Amino acid sequence: MKDRGTKSVNEDIKQKFCRELGEEQVLFEEPMKRHTTFRIGGPAEVFVMPKTIEQVKTAVRICREEDLDWFVLGNGSNLLVSDQGYRGVIIQMDRNIGQVTVEGTEIHAAAGALLSSIASAARKASLTGFEFAGGIPGTLGGAVVMNAGAYGGELKDVLKEVTVMDRDGEIRIIPADELEMGYRTSIIKTAGYLVLSAVVSLEEGDGEAILNRTRELNEKRSEKQPLEYPSAGSTFKRPEGYFAGKLIMDSGLRGYTVGGAMVSEKHCGFVINKGGATASDVCELMNHVTEVVREKFGVTLEPEVKFLGEFDRR
Ligand SMILES: Cc1cc2nc3c(=O)[nH]c(=O)nc-3n(C[C@H](O)[C@H](O)[C@H](O)COP(=O)(O)OP(=O)(O)OC[C@H]3O[C@@H](n4cnc5c(N)ncnc54)[C@H](O)[C@@H]3O)c2cc1C
Repeated sequence: MKDRGTKSVNEDIKQKFCRELGEEQVLFEEPMKRHTTFRIGGPAEVFVMPKTIEQVKTAVRICREEDLDWFVLGNGSNLLVSDQGYRGVIIQMDRNIGQVTVEGTEIHAAAGALLSSIASAARKASLTGFEFAGGIPGTLGGAVVMNAGAYGGELKDVLKEVTVMDRDGEIRIIPADELEMGYRTSIIKTAGYLVLSAVVSLEEGDGEAILNRTRELNEKRSEKQPLEYPSAGSTFKRPEGYFAGKLIMDSGLRGYTVGGAMVSEKHCGFVINKGGATASDVCELMNHVTEVVREKFGVTLEPEVKFLGEFDRR
């Protein structure tokens, strides 16, 4: 979600954010490495932490009035932010807007709810169908945008409807089947929607079976994935008919390093920050991996990670 703007944030605009949202809800020149699972990213010119939907609306309204670029952040678990940071306004939809309620076999949750919280609410209510998502470290909003998925499940399998704010600031409820959710994609970004909340539809299940499945998937994750290092999960999408990690490994790039960024030795599909990595280290590494895999296998890897800010991508 990003409108093109032209103005920079002057003192008057800063004061306007503080006045209308409250000083404690706004930060300036906030390092984005504090808000991404990669632990990478330069400063956001304005960083807004709304606590209510009204404040989200206010933040977007100010961006429009002042013609500022803006970007919606979830848990920053699929994001690479440039070392130069972001000149514009980051609107963080996190636990502050993370209410989760169970109604029968449905879970109604605000966009900032972590998938782990929703999975936990489902487990407590003996509702099955969400086990696949409990270990994905994102928010519901980010998961809707990405159609997050794992272990044979995808968000689109359980999503009933989404409440969004559209480009004109109107609140709309959209059925899941109108969101064109495909492999790690949906129309949310292109349509310019800001996800406010969503309803997930599950089935009654057996509490113990749900717990066992959850434990099993958590074990698989920590066995296979380099969770001990900061990363943004799978760096590249799975190309049709291949696995990105296997292509990278078979290209001899296991452990390949640029600065502090490294192709994980545990899982070649992950780029990890082994300490002090910059966004340009990661970008350079991704460029190299893409080139080598293309040369060796004729397959073009597409990033799954979203880029924010300026990058030298090839
Ligand atoms: C260790 C690890 C394991 C992972 N495993 C998986 C996995 O198994 N499966 C999988 O699919 N992903 C996985 N991921 C990636 C990531 O967790 C998911 O893509 C997740 O859905 C991103 O959610 P987020 O809240 O962190 O989004 P962010 O990274 O904050 O944002 C991602 C995109 O969504 C947009 N966005 C976020 N919230 C909103 C909103 N409310 N309205 C509009 N746009 C919004 C952002 O603008 C951005 O374009 C993994 C990541 C890590 C670090």
